[in-house]
Amino acid sequence: MGVKAYRCRVCGNPLYFENSVCVSCGTGLGYARAEREIVPVDASGVYVDADGWIWHVCHNLGLSGCTWLAPLEGGQCVSCDLTRTRPNDADAAGLANFPLAERAKRHLIVELDSLGFPLVGKNQDAVNGLAFDLLSSTLGQVMIAHNDGIVTIDLAEGDDSHRERVRSQLDEPYRTMLGHFRHEVGHYYEWQLVELAGDPGLLARARELFGDETTDYQEAVDRHYQNGPPTDWRLAYISSYATMHPYEDFAETWAHYLHICDTLETAVSFGLVPAAELLGRARFRDLVSDVWVPLSTALNLVNRSMGKDDLYPFVLADAVLEKLDFVASLRPAA
Ligand SMILES: [Zn+2]
Ligand SMILES: [Zn+2]
Ligand SMILES: [Zn+2]
Repeated sequence: MGVKAYRCRVCGNPLYFENSVCVSCGTGLGYARAEREIVPVDASGVYVDADGWIWHVCHNLGLSGCTWLAPLEGGQCVSCDLTRTRPNDADAAGLANFPLAERAKRHLIVELDSLGFPLVGKNQDAVNGLAFDLLSSTLGQVMIAHNDGIVTIDLAEGDDSHRERVRSQLDEPYRTMLGHFRHEVGHYYEWQLVELAGDPGLLARARELFGDETTDYQEAVDRHYQNGPPTDWRLAYISSYATMHPYEDFAETWAHYLHICDTLETAVSFGLVPAAELLGRARFRDLVSDVWVPLSTALNLVNRSMGKDDLYPFVLADAVLEKLDFVASLRPAA
């Protein structure tokens, strides 16, 4: 998980995850998902792995900036396979924001892979699989949502001024494309790992923490937008949006679980936190209190030193730590 300190295998130069070419030596690059590494490709965009398998630069490199390797020449990678709908060729605004959404999706997949969460596309399992509709609200209303494994993302959220306007209207402290992806797959994983688990104890614990998920959703939405959150919501929720419905509380908590794991891992990769700090705690909530809270406070102050808003503008109440702990417990055993 986390943004690793990737390096060019040819010249040793540090790489960003999104690089398709090494800026130092000019070698073409691709992401090999099986190796979880950025690897060099030859002049025709080919990489041969240690087992002799031949990989090709994803067909969508030019369209969406996809830097992953694909199994077939002229084909697309597994991340692109998860996109069921993309903006059509006439939708210039949608296409302009498409690369940003795909980049956020790839970032999400890398983290899910390293945490060990199962990831199956609708192309492999039409019922329980996951797929993304990346739609553009310039052509009509788009609801960012999850439904039976289909995550819908509004590409307009890739536009900074649009997203900032919505953020301010909804009075949210944080709104990003990656955050949308993390939140929406939270709904998917609650469905898959809690509701379909066939474990009454697990479901009971989820209801104890988040509330009864069978509560009428539309009524909850109407109430939330009419009355706003309860005034003391900070004592039990990570965000005011989480108060709306048990499903939203879970998805918000899930998103924060991914925010925290990813950022901690990046901090370890770049030496900001000793790797040993991530080990040896029985409960995830202790890792959050002992390591994440001090780190995020420091990073907030780093941002303030640059005149930026806080990196992590959230307060984690005890009840929220318990919810995070529950989400962390869903991680499959390694
Ligand atoms: Zn290089
Ligand atoms: Zn791709
Ligand atoms: Zn949601």
